[in-house]
Amino acid sequence: MQDAERALKLQIIQTCLDMDRRGLNQGTSGNVSARWGDGLLVTPSGLSYATMAPEDIVFVGMDGTASGRHAPSSEWRFHRDILRDRPDLSAVIHAHPTYATALAMLGEAIPAVHYMIAAAGGSTIRCAPYATFGTGELSRHALDALQDRTACLLANHGLIACGPSLSRALWLAEEVETLSRQYAIARQIGTPAILPDEEIARVLEKFATYGPRSKD
Ligand code: 13P
Ligand code: ZN
Repeated sequence: MQDAERALKLQIIQTCLDMDRRGLNQGTSGNVSARWGDGLLVTPSGLSYATMAPEDIVFVGMDGTASGRHAPSSEWRFHRDILRDRPDLSAVIHAHPTYATALAMLGEAIPAVHYMIAAAGGSTIRCAPYATFGTGELSRHALDALQDRTACLLANHGLIACGPSLSRALWLAEEVETLSRQYAIARQIGTPAILPDEEIARVLEKFATYGPRSKD
C-alpha cells in the first residue's frame, strides 16, 4: 500500500472515531468516504470503528467495482454517486446523529432559523424522501437534496455531510447536528423566526472570506 493511500485510510478511520467521540453516531451506523484516484475509499459494512485498520478500508471504482477484504459500506452507492457527480466535493460522511435524525423523522427541510444554515450552502437543508438504505433510489433522492448544498437530511434515517476534505465534512456534520438541536428546542418552546433569503445570500457572501486563510 502506498504511503499516501495508507495516510488517507488512517484519516478515514480517525474521522469515524471523531464522529463517535463527538456524539454524532453510535455503534456501527454511519460511514465515511474520500476520493482516491479514479474512485473512492470507503469504510467497510458493519465493522466496529474501534478496531478498524487501514487494510479494512475498501476501494470502490466509479464503475462500482469494489476491492478489499470486506464488503464496502451498504451506502457505497450514494458515496460513489456524490463523488462522481460533484467535483467540488472529496469527502462524504453519513451518520445518524440524534437531533438531525429526529428532524429527518418529520420529513421536513430545516429552514433558515439561524444564519449557520448557510454553512451547508443555502437557505435550507433539504430532507431527501425516504428510501430503503443502500438503494439506488436513496442515492438519487440524496443527490437531488444535495443540489447546490453540501449537507442534507435523509427522511427516517439520518444525515449526509460532504466537503472538499474529511475535516470539513466532519465540521459540517457537527454544525448541522448543533443547528438541529437548537431548532428542535426552539420548536418546543415556540415558533422560530425564519431569516429571509436575502439575508442568507449576504451570509454566504461573507462566508466566502470568513475565517483563517488555510487550504483546508
Ligand atoms: P454500513 O455499516 O453498511 O456502512 O451501514 C450503516 C448505515 O448507516 C446504513 O445506512
Ligand atoms: Zn445510515
